[in-house]
Amino acid sequence: MNKPKMATEKGNSRVLMLLGQLERMNGEAMGRDVETARQVTAKILHLIQTQGEMYCLCVVQSSRDVQTTLNILYILTELLTVGEGRRAGVFVSKGGTGVLFQILISASKELPPSEELMLQLHSLLAKVGPKDRKFGVKARLSGALNVTVNLLKQNLQNTKLLLPCLQVLRVYSTNSVNAISLGKNGVVELMFKIVAPYSKKNTIKVTSAAPLFFLSAETNARRAVDGGHVPILLALYLDWHRNDTRHRHMLIRKGLLVCLRNITNIKLGRKAFIDADGMRVLYNSSTECLPVRTLDPLINTSSLIMRKCFPKNRLPLPTIKSAFHYQLPHIPAAGPVAQLYSQPPGVDDVVDESDNEETDADTENDTRTRRTRRIKTDLNKLHPKKIPGRPFEELRVYERFFVELSEDFQASILFTVDNNCISQSINFYLYSVNSTTRTHTLPSPSAPTHIQSPLLLGGIPALRVGGGGSNWGSDCGSEGAEDEGAEGAVLEVPDTALLLPLHDPDLYVEMVKGTLSVPQYAEVAYPDYFGHVAPTFREPHLERVYGVQRSKIFQDIERLIHPNDIVDKVVYDLDIPSCPLIEDNGESLKFNSQFESGNLRKVVQVRKNEYDLVLNSDINSNHYHQWFYFEVSGMRVGTMYRFNIINCEKSNSQFNYGMQVLMYSVQEAISGRPRWVRTGTDICYYKNHFARSSIAAGGQKGKSYYTMTFTTSFSHKDDVCYFAYHYPYTYSTLKMHLSKLEALRTPQIYLRQDVLCETLGGNKCPLLTITAMPESNSNDHICQFRNRPLIFLSARVHPGETNASWVMKGTLEFLMGTSPLAASLRDAYIFKIVPMLNPDGVINGNHRCSLSGEDLNRQWQSPNPELHPTIYHTKSLLQYLAHIQRAPLVFCDYHGHSRKKNVFMYGCSVKETVWQSNISATSSDLQEDLGYRALPKILSQIAPAFSMASCSFVVERSKESTARVVVWREIGVQRSYTMESTLCGCDQGKYKGLQIGTRELEEMGAQFCVALLRLKRLTGLRNHQHLLDLESDIIGPQCKYTHPHLLYTDALFLSVSLSGTQTLPSSLGDHCLSPPDRLSPWDHVSDH
Ligand SMILES: [Zn+2]
Repeated sequence: MNKPKMATEKGNSRVLMLLGQLERMNGEAMGRDVETARQVTAKILHLIQTQGEMYCLCVVQSSRDVQTTLNILYILTELLTVGEGRRAGVFVSKGGTGVLFQILISASKELPPSEELMLQLHSLLAKVGPKDRKFGVKARLSGALNVTVNLLKQNLQNTKLLLPCLQVLRVYSTNSVNAISLGKNGVVELMFKIVAPYSKKNTIKVTSAAPLFFLSAETNARRAVDGGHVPILLALYLDWHRNDTRHRHMLIRKGLLVCLRNITNIKLGRKAFIDADGMRVLYNSSTECLPVRTLDPLINTSSLIMRKCFPKNRLPLPTIKSAFHYQLPHIPAAGPVAQLYSQPPGVDDVVDESDNEETDADTENDTRTRRTRRIKTDLNKLHPKKIPGRPFEELRVYERFFVELSEDFQASILFTVDNNCISQSINFYLYSVNSTTRTHTLPSPSAPTHIQSPLLLGGIPALRVGGGGSNWGSDCGSEGAEDEGAEGAVLEVPDTALLLPLHDPDLYVEMVKGTLSVPQYAEVAYPDYFGHVAPTFREPHLERVYGVQRSKIFQDIERLIHPNDIVDKVVYDLDIPSCPLIEDNGESLKFNSQFESGNLRKVVQVRKNEYDLVLNSDINSNHYHQWFYFEVSGMRVGTMYRFNIINCEKSNSQFNYGMQVLMYSVQEAISGRPRWVRTGTDICYYKNHFARSSIAAGGQKGKSYYTMTFTTSFSHKDDVCYFAYHYPYTYSTLKMHLSKLEALRTPQIYLRQDVLCETLGGNKCPLLTITAMPESNSNDHICQFRNRPLIFLSARVHPGETNASWVMKGTLEFLMGTSPLAASLRDAYIFKIVPMLNPDGVINGNHRCSLSGEDLNRQWQSPNPELHPTIYHTKSLLQYLAHIQRAPLVFCDYHGHSRKKNVFMYGCSVKETVWQSNISATSSDLQEDLGYRALPKILSQIAPAFSMASCSFVVERSKESTARVVVWREIGVQRSYTMESTLCGCDQGKYKGLQIGTRELEEMGAQFCVALLRLKRLTGLRNHQHLLDLESDIIGPQCKYTHPHLLYTDALFLSVSLSGTQTLPSSLGDHCLSPPDRLSPWDHVSDH
């Protein structure tokens, strides 16, 4: 403080000197010496402009005279008014606030204090206060807080003085200690004396300043409730709402709402609000505001208050545990399943006893702490480390899955075209099916207008369909134009064999017979039976209609306002296993979800055309609701139906960003268009009033569920339609597909299908080996054959991520294709593929878990052979490979991402993890082969849906037991990835603005293969110059980033020797690094 003060004193004396000079000139010399006068005044002006506040500070501090002080304050007010707050900032930094408080204190000791001085002081303080971060503390410590409060109390009628005082109080109270202290001093009561109804027009200004300043403190909110002020506030708000017809006093109206918002942060406040009929008051006033767009802030705040106060409901369920029960062979000792099982009987797991509300602030804090924990911080744990693990004797049994590594082809009937000797190993699909019993049936032609729902595996004796294209009579045409080509015509089952070469309805039904589900499904959903042909039209992101969420929320609030309009009729309920479909008189839609991959637990008809849908938890779990797949029938053509899925859990969803649900119409399929299409309008996703039990929310109390709502109409009478979260792909579909793949085999293709293991549910987990047959049985060719690097792929560990299966389908079909690229690829690598890591989850309609109720992609560190067999054995395969020095060149696990767009990869890099965290690392920690970037980089150049910008190579703590991280660290695979495909669509590249479809997903799977071929070319190149050419070809000119702290040249050609496999010259990487700040890990709220 000293230095500026001295400088000011110096400057001060200069001003005085100049003023003195000016005075001397006055009269006598002014006329003569114009030049000097100009110079002097210009200097004064300059000094005042640049350092005026400081002169004033010095003068005012030493002034004992009220008038002098006042004059200086006037000057200060003038000075601080110009300069857009910058000068106020300088003033604060020179200690101006403290000086003003001193003056305030000493002025308050005068009796009576000068009103004008008080007015000026408070005006100034209101100006500088917001610029001073310690304003509140300074005010309290100096005693100014009480001065202002007392002044206020004594001048309630003095509107001129009241206004600046209130403004200053508002700044004081941004400090929470002050807010509480003000409350104690009776300021809450004071405020309610000041705020006035509309009619007292002279108090408008004061009223506008009053409400905003103190209720943020919880104790003050309680004071307001105890003082009975909630009804008063509501009445005041309504009064302003009614009278301020030209909307000139938005500030006051908003201020009153903010008061209510703060009061309703506490439970007592919410109760008072409900008791005062607040819901109706705000609902009605908001509805009246709706047509005027400028009133949106009022509607939004009202809606926020109403949502907060909406009485919490329980989900209409007896328990949140899955409606299906599967007894585990043993219960894991710890973890979510153990908790679930240790719940004492009789505990209500649907709601909590206590009502501990979350506040918005809490939620924010939560995410912040969670974020800081996410990245791994133990550098030692980061480095790839081959864990000694299991003895080779134990792993030797896995040798049988790698016949190709020892096969000598000497008994070479092989080359005489007989494929069977290769596939003989175990083609379990075709032979495991009991094809002698049961023929599947389609709806009987005697009831032609109704497609019977669903297709049964046995039962009704009827016409056998398929192959021959059997007919159903139909009179669907009576509805007219909606039913194309149906007039008196015969409906044909679509010949999907023509449209979909790898689909066969008959074969599908055969496959279903061998699929074991916990609920013992005996039905087949039509979409899986008919198949799906990707539509040729574009499906852009749905544009969000302005205010759609608000109007949906208002409709929800109406349930409370107009309870008599609510039907509240249960129409479907899996908790009544004998009759989930509740009979009715045809006034309601019919629902069904009892088929493979189906998920829908309960449906409540809320209004005539509106239904609340409840999803089922994953088996042996009490949450993970996201995946849905269900059937609807009994619809009226042209009616708009609203569907609300009311127990969603994630805090946001791509349904808010253009994603639509998928719908499949059986009538459309019969008319030759068997396909899933993106459907639904008025889609949005928002927090609702259904309380989430802490048991299902990881111990957090007061959480709510989210609603995903969509509206749709149906265009065919007597249709059966299906809705799904994403394009379904069942386990039976996979089996059918794999068996059809066999047919694609040529003598040049080596394809083997093994059963890796059985799942908990008794289903078989397939393992595929695809490569090229050796060119001949010469030593050289056999040697080349055996030494091909391995590529290990897996998918669908998470059942709800069906897109991963479609990508896998693309990969498999490409690999089995006849193109020269496919042939080179087979010649280059041996592919080991586990296309479905979690068959049980898929079959039973789970979203994330297996039958053990656990996320299988969190079990890779120590999978239990009994509880996680597919993971245990897949990991064993990799451990076996590591033991025989044949760890794969690339490992990739296909996933789906529900919150991000595009397709992208997660990989593992010590260096990039270090960047993203604050670990101090030595330069040796940062030497790393950058080859891990090559594959995603190539993909971003050849696959239109792929985005390099979304990739991340950070190793997060929460991911340390995922396939990607474990395969990287324990098996030593440097190129270990998770490939995430969006469930929504793309925001870059060729598909920008479009929702993703199966065509794009399959293309992605094929492009992945092409990228591997490019990777191979790079690996094979030895000529450096040639390599650089190719590199620049691949990399393109745009990546020039280099990180200042790291020398990539150090990392050039370094390779991780751990894997024991061929490694890439890694020079690719150093050109391709994107700046670290673009790799924000917080964006990767990842699903995998
Ligand atoms: Zn996943």
